[in-house]
Amino acid sequence: MKVRFESQADALCSAAADLVKRGFVLGSGGNVSLRQDDVFYISPTGVRLDELSPASLVPVDLNSGRSISTGKGRPSSETPMHRAAYLARPEASCVVHTHSTYAIAYGYRHQYLPATTPDFLVYVAREVPVCPYRTPSTPELGAIVGEGLQSSPAVLMRKHGILVTGEDVAKAFLRTLLIHEAARLALLAGDAFEPLLPDEIAALEAIVYGQ
Ligand code: 13P
Repeated sequence: MKVRFESQADALCSAAADLVKRGFVLGSGGNVSLRQDDVFYISPTGVRLDELSPASLVPVDLNSGRSISTGKGRPSSETPMHRAAYLARPEASCVVHTHSTYAIAYGYRHQYLPATTPDFLVYVAREVPVCPYRTPSTPELGAIVGEGLQSSPAVLMRKHGILVTGEDVAKAFLRTLLIHEAARLALLAGDAFEPLLPDEIAALEAIVYGQ
């Protein structure tokens, strides 16, 4: 377990640095975390995602939401949202929050992002909801995100970005990329945009889940 957590923490820091390279966040925007049992380890506030190390992650008690004092930096200001995500998705061990420009642009006009490709359907969901705007870092944002995550492992946050959960770092990172690309596709396609249709979804789910 300890070895797995350490390798996941390494993977999280590499993935976070990759998100900066891809332009998913600017400056010290975005935050990431990793859960182990009743504690999650979150990026410190104000630190760039390409400057994280496993030792810099700040432990937070999942039950109380309070950081466990270690003499490290202060936890991300978005700790309430990460905590709400773990409480809403018990299978999740990783949360990634970014400011994908395409996802934000898509969210101005839509209530949800539907599965547009087979990959999106299989690795993300039939659709990802767009949550109404709430002030970043507040419990109100945490509550609305927790609500959106009841039906999907990820949410778009209006005028803000995306929050993605995953059973592990690879899954959360892949979902982040797929949501960003789906929003980009939808915007690029304009009037020609067409999500997967119900019979196309049913045929794919029959293959993947044997329904
Ligand atoms: P933190 O530096 O506190 O994690 O905040 C960055 C951010 O993206 C807020 O949404």
